Amino acid sequence: MVAFLLVLSLSAEVLNASVGDADPGYRSCVKQCEENGCIAERCFPNCKFSLDRSLNDHPSHMLESLYLQWKKEDCKNDCRYYCMLDREKERKLLNDVPVQYHGKWPFSRIYGMQEPASVVFSALNMAMHFYGWKSFFTLLYNKLPLKFGKKPYYEYAGLWHVYGLLSLNSWFWSVVFHTRDFDLLEKLDYSSAVALLGYSLILTILRSFNIKDEATRVLIFSPLVAFVITHIMFLNFVKLDYGWNMKVCVSMGVLQLSIWAIWSCVSNHPSWWKLLFVVVGGGLGMLLEIYDFPPYKGLFDAHALWHATTIPLTYLLWSFIKDDVQFLTAKRLSKSKKSK
Ligand SMILES: [Zn+2]
Repeated sequence: MVAFLLVLSLSAEVLNASVGDADPGYRSCVKQCEENGCIAERCFPNCKFSLDRSLNDHPSHMLESLYLQWKKEDCKNDCRYYCMLDREKERKLLNDVPVQYHGKWPFSRIYGMQEPASVVFSALNMAMHFYGWKSFFTLLYNKLPLKFGKKPYYEYAGLWHVYGLLSLNSWFWSVVFHTRDFDLLEKLDYSSAVALLGYSLILTILRSFNIKDEATRVLIFSPLVAFVITHIMFLNFVKLDYGWNMKVCVSMGVLQLSIWAIWSCVSNHPSWWKLLFVVVGGGLGMLLEIYDFPPYKGLFDAHALWHATTIPLTYLLWSFIKDDVQFLTAKRLSKSKKSK
């Protein structure tokens, strides 16, 4: 479900036309800057690349072409940023409120990071996943009894293990994408978030319906994995269709949130409340994204705060997973004792 929030947060980042960039003054500033690499006296080293170099796809030119593309993006970002700062200064003098540019609020850059607060909160989400994932393994292999062959009694260990890895991967790309807005990074960020969301839906179904049998697991896994892979290929190689992606992600997200919500109420699980708290907390956090507001001190906007809310929720989710390990291991052990 934390994955669902991550994907929704992405969808909100891509609206391209905003009030700020429709302003003619801003537009001509960006255009001029991209042409001569300067705004008034201030010039940008990233804009000093030769525009007339032929970019063919001969292998030896591939790296060079990628490098030039990178430079070009950097130049565009610098121009947009400084034109925006100038424009916002003018607006402030006229007592106007801040407006969005290319779907984003006017943020203050720190050490070249475009959205510093979102970067920091994404990194903290990543750290929280790492902590949860690591303590889950310590519990599983060092603190609880194991079956013959050092296998845990808990049947969902491997599944949560992969979940931890996919979460770490997804938050890593979120950190990178909030640092620098770049086409290739955007695709990597989207793909990893969709993969995580699709996978957590499978995991939700397997755990909540108690599916332990390998054949049934494969039966659920295969069509869903095929669908998620096709969707990722479509986004990367056919069209990065934000509207369609939103529909796919919302359907997968709402489905798993509903399954967990119902399950936590009917399952008699000792830690049901932790899971329900994550579902409800995640839903409330989403309100932040709906009631978007400009960044406080150029740093903390609704989106960044939303990323902040998932940090404690991630802690609680891993805490639930660890309780689940203990609960099911105890259950299996008492069963095997009874059968002896
Ligand atoms: Zn984000």
